[in-house]
Amino acid sequence: MATVAINLATGTFQQEEIIVGIDLGTTNSLVAYVHPDSRQPVAINDQGRGSIVPSVVHFPADGAEPVVGTEAREFLLTDPQRTIYSVKRLLGKSYRDLGNHADQLGYKVIDDNSESLVKIRVEDRFYSPIELSADILKELRARAEHALKTPVNRAVITVPAYFNDSQRQATRDAGRLAGLEVLRIVNEPTAAALAYGIGLDPSDEKTVAVYDLGGGTFDISILRIQQGIFEVLSTNGDTYLGGDDFDRVVAEYWTSAFQLPAAFRSNPHLQQQLRLAAEMAKKYLSQHDDFTTHLTDEAGQNIAVMLTRAQFNDLIRPLVDRTIAACRQALQDSTLAATDLDAVLLVGGSTRVPLVYDAVSAFFGQPANNSLNPDEVVALGAAIQADILAGNRRDVLLLDVTPLTLGIETLGGLLDPIIPRNSKIPTKAGRQYTTSIDGQVNLKIAVYQGERDLVSQNRKLGEFVLTGIPAMPAGLPKVDVNFLLNADGILQVEAIELRSNTRQQVEIKPQYGLTDEQVEQMLMDSLVNAKEDVAARLLIEARTAAEQLLYQVGNFTKKNRQHLTEEELTATEAQVGKVRSALAGPERDPILKAMDELDELTRPYAERVMNISIQQAMAGKKIG
Ligand code: ADP
Ligand code: MG
Repeated sequence: MATVAINLATGTFQQEEIIVGIDLGTTNSLVAYVHPDSRQPVAINDQGRGSIVPSVVHFPADGAEPVVGTEAREFLLTDPQRTIYSVKRLLGKSYRDLGNHADQLGYKVIDDNSESLVKIRVEDRFYSPIELSADILKELRARAEHALKTPVNRAVITVPAYFNDSQRQATRDAGRLAGLEVLRIVNEPTAAALAYGIGLDPSDEKTVAVYDLGGGTFDISILRIQQGIFEVLSTNGDTYLGGDDFDRVVAEYWTSAFQLPAAFRSNPHLQQQLRLAAEMAKKYLSQHDDFTTHLTDEAGQNIAVMLTRAQFNDLIRPLVDRTIAACRQALQDSTLAATDLDAVLLVGGSTRVPLVYDAVSAFFGQPANNSLNPDEVVALGAAIQADILAGNRRDVLLLDVTPLTLGIETLGGLLDPIIPRNSKIPTKAGRQYTTSIDGQVNLKIAVYQGERDLVSQNRKLGEFVLTGIPAMPAGLPKVDVNFLLNADGILQVEAIELRSNTRQQVEIKPQYGLTDEQVEQMLMDSLVNAKEDVAARLLIEARTAAEQLLYQVGNFTKKNRQHLTEEELTATEAQVGKVRSALAGPERDPILKAMDELDELTRPYAERVMNISIQQAMAGKKIG
């Protein structure tokens, strides 16, 4: 599909649409593109809001459209049940995959059936992590379109190197749901290497370590790059370790060192204030030696808190040491020595912390490379990959490798590998099988991914049954099973019984992946149900507000009976009755109307009572 477009932002003719590169992060997401004139990758900064979009989705209480980014992040502590963060952790996962990590989130993760994909519940609506990721992608897409003044329909999206097929497929589905054709899913460390220009020259032969410390996750990958092929030699890390933990240890230190009031642990607004101040201190100390600010408690009192870089380093040292232990393991798994590495690349906002830089450089025995903006480097690399796919760099051929072995189940529950891990993709491989029982007419083909010998310890991607095998003695039928793995790591499996030429061809979508129809259905549902959802939500909001008002009015009349006349009391009671009967009904407008009337009626009494109590308070006070 060739389209011709004029880019209004740059005033140039575009042969092809721009393909963007997207870093869909756990904490922050970004979109980048290769500028058609400068040929340089740039992160898109729409309206001077910065290039970083926090990966947070907030569903406003009034049922309005979800809000994404910095604005949504403000609600993390004050409205946690309607504010979804770290959704990337849930992507492509079943409830069983999550284990007890589901309890640690501020929002509700639903377990309808431990084998199927998790859902997130916000009041009376359910959202899949795919839909929520799509909300983030839609925001990125909108920003790109706004900044570039051109439609954006195609993208490259990055994922961690350890993401399995199911998680990759879920990422792809999220892209589709956001209206993006996802041309390629690329490993984050591969993108980082590309951004540093490594692998762009096919004669390049390099081995690099990519150290990525983000907000909530840590990944270390050792890559070998030769002839445009990026091979993941090993990965390690900790999916629950990142810059947020640095903020937490600072907050804990202040709480005890400055004896902060207990409310800083319980009141969401104070917790938020403390957390933000801790993050501010951390960032400030990346550049300065000491930091001072003040917190404001419930009574409006200021409490000064401070932190030096040396204190900060002591607080985070155990956390940084854990990342180094993971680096040691990754290096060992790659069977390389630190001296074999041509470069150590730093990725992720938390690598700005000087102690992190020092520890990584010391461990690998060479200064780590942090010359690119660590927040942007993955998105920039994705943009380069997009540019390659757009055909703008014809000299470069980029291939990826499959991170895990693919095979089928054979007798005794064993995995028979067909495509070994680290095979270059796209790739094709096959094997011949036969039946084990006389007269067997069906053969079950179950496809697994993983490195273990027993299929039960690997991940099942799917299965199908080859039917119509002519009845023959065991061992006579010849069944060819062929695997075709495309450039995105999506697998196609074909089985043929050679004697009868019975064949069956199946695209093995990962077990948890969505079919095209399911994605379309989800799109349709969200359109059809949108109106109803909003109406239902508004009704619930109105009912809650009415119940609160009734409670307040009840309290008020009980406390101030002596200041109210008989008529006022009767009128109030009558209006309370009207609100109650509206509440029992199915409509929102009568509830709002009755509430307004009750509010109107009682406001003058409330003001009068307030004046009385102020006068009494004044009278009791001696002046001077
Ligand atoms: P992710 O890849 O997980 O989405 P990022 O790479 O965007 O996350 O990293 C976000 C983290 O980086 C946050 O914890 C943030 O506080 C931290 N960070 C950003 N800037 C700095 C800085 N100047 N000094 C220290 N930490 C920083
Ligand atoms: Mg990241």
